[in-house]
Amino acid sequence: MSFDITSYIRDIHDFPKDGILFKDITPVLSNPKALTGTVEALLKMAEGLKVDKVVAMESRGFMFGTLLAARLGAGFVPVRKPGKLPFSTLKEEYALEYGTDALEMHTDAIQEGDHVLIHDDVLATGGTAEATVKLVERAGGKVVQLSFLMDLLFLNGRDRLQEYEVKSLVSY
Ligand code: IMP
Repeated sequence: MSFDITSYIRDIHDFPKDGILFKDITPVLSNPKALTGTVEALLKMAEGLKVDKVVAMESRGFMFGTLLAARLGAGFVPVRKPGKLPFSTLKEEYALEYGTDALEMHTDAIQEGDHVLIHDDVLATGGTAEATVKLVERAGGKVVQLSFLMDLLFLNGRDRLQEYEVKSLVSY
């Protein structure tokens, strides 16, 4: 990587709640060199893979997910919170620390046998990524890589994704 993405990731204390240290990627997005450098670094992580679709999670996953799909010559598929997608959807619930949440994907977004790269900005506990893997597999897709800008190692998200190739530009 020709630049250090870490210098563009900003720590925000107590956001969105007290006690949380939020990793903010807006400085990566607003700096032209960091934006281009990050896309190139993500492409390098995916080198050699056949990718038909990039599937990315609402909403920060959409930013680099779309850029990556265009550069890979792949289609882009959004995974969103319930009620946001207009067509018929597959839905996957997942556990949060308190309660549950869910993600949806359009039923026609993935074709049987599609090679899918899943992208998001942050891998934390892995709940979001695991639910997305389930949506892709229910639709008949094959997950060829999970790609992240950063991995919060202390939250052990990789433990839930052991059967898959998980790659991240940086780890904390
Ligand atoms: P997980 O399901 O616990 O792995 O959380 C991952 C999801 O939460 C991703 O969609 C991230 O965008 C979001 N997330 C968790 N922590 C952060 C953070 O520090 N900065 C930005 N997004 C975060």
